[in-house]
Amino acid sequence: MDTQLQDLKDRLATIKDLGSAVALMSWDQDIHMPAGAAQGRAQQMSTLSRLHHDHFTDPAIGRLLEDLEPWAADQPYDSDGAALVRKMRRDYDREIKVPSEFVARFTKARSIANSVWPTAKQENDFAKFAPHLEEIFGMTAEYAGYVGYTDHIYDALLDGYEPDMKAAQVEAIFIPLREETVKLVQAVRESGQAVDVSCLSGDFDHDTQLALATKMVQAFGYDMNRGRVDEVAHPYCTNFGRDDVRITTTVDPTFFNSNFFSMLHECGHALYEQGSAPALEHTTLAGGVSLGIHESQSRLWENLVGRSRSFWAWAYPQVQASFHHLRGVPSETFYRAINVIEPSLIRIEADEVTYNLHIMLRFEIEKAILEGKVKIADLPQEWDQRMENYLGVVPSTVAQGVLQDVHWSLGLIGYFPTYSLGNIVSVQLYEAAKAAHPRLEDEFAQGQFGAVLGWMRENIHVHGSKFTPNELLKRATGSEIDSAPYVAYLKRKVADIYGV
Ligand code: ZN
Repeated sequence: MDTQLQDLKDRLATIKDLGSAVALMSWDQDIHMPAGAAQGRAQQMSTLSRLHHDHFTDPAIGRLLEDLEPWAADQPYDSDGAALVRKMRRDYDREIKVPSEFVARFTKARSIANSVWPTAKQENDFAKFAPHLEEIFGMTAEYAGYVGYTDHIYDALLDGYEPDMKAAQVEAIFIPLREETVKLVQAVRESGQAVDVSCLSGDFDHDTQLALATKMVQAFGYDMNRGRVDEVAHPYCTNFGRDDVRITTTVDPTFFNSNFFSMLHECGHALYEQGSAPALEHTTLAGGVSLGIHESQSRLWENLVGRSRSFWAWAYPQVQASFHHLRGVPSETFYRAINVIEPSLIRIEADEVTYNLHIMLRFEIEKAILEGKVKIADLPQEWDQRMENYLGVVPSTVAQGVLQDVHWSLGLIGYFPTYSLGNIVSVQLYEAAKAAHPRLEDEFAQGQFGAVLGWMRENIHVHGSKFTPNELLKRATGSEIDSAPYVAYLKRKVADIYGV
């Protein structure tokens, strides 16, 4: 079996390299590429994506898997070899259903849509983006048709981001979460307590912000020798293997939160990728298993650590040293400001409580479009209507409304629910880490984050994609996804800030 296993690994190494090249091109498109190169870059990425798909779906891989499966069945379930064969079977069976011609066509359409989206957003011109969105949703439905589904078309898309998760399960999680969230928002409103957020706006020097946030993520454990930080409009984390994990961020010289919290967030993603076991490198087992588990890591560092009292006991004096106008602002005022709860228009700026309402709205809209119940042309009105119903605020422009997110321009449909799943899981994991290290938070106040990182490394990061999200969560916490600890956490936060 050694020869077949080596043959499979060699092929996966080629596939990984092609994937990394596409990811690097995409990163370059955001950071350095001249605007005029968009068409050419779309073509290059389309070619490499097609090659990636061709190598992945090579019938030789199918034959190797058939040869290796009886051997893998005799290996321990959690061994690297058994996990590799198991995961490859799943991915291969999904991928061979998608025609190579479609992969090239979809990659190109996405690349062009993604180059039109920023201009349409800037010019508040939904009509400019609408034909691309129409095409993207049409092709997404075509894709779902190739990979297949039994219950709902949405399942085919969601499964690509969150293996084994179904739209009906998401709904079952979202319905009680929505009820609890609406109650909390109401309690905040009725508390009559106003939180003063004025200290977060003002003169925040660009370079000082970047230097401060970079220092913070390094304290969390982000290894800059295997990473770097660059600026983009819409922050994300990307990687070309565990030793090249890059953070992108945005800096607003008049507002503290944009850079600081986006850096903590993307750092959480980066720590996950940097912590994948070296033995898994260059195989499909390397790196994060799903977007939901990924988001549990980013939200953990952004919110559970980054918005905690103990973290700020350590961080606030440093923030004050960087921005002199904060010297007269008491730490309690600052702490309340970064934890304000208030319905708002922009998802990525939303507070911890109202955030999930933004996700539920997107989930419902995507489902409605795929079911043919909502037309693309009617999206701006649909969006505004739901914002009114869910959050009680209505955007005055499409840039602040339906055009705010990059995801649809990239063909990422079925992706949004994973943000809320990640929020829920982040608390389950954090509490398991805290049970193992009860003095965790005392250490934050000393600028020590090794205990929480160590627990995540050991229980989540090193496993890469060896287990399904559900298996991983059960191994780490003993339970399946459960929103109860998350809701209890939000209630404690509301009580802390608003006294209700
Ligand atoms: Zn994220």
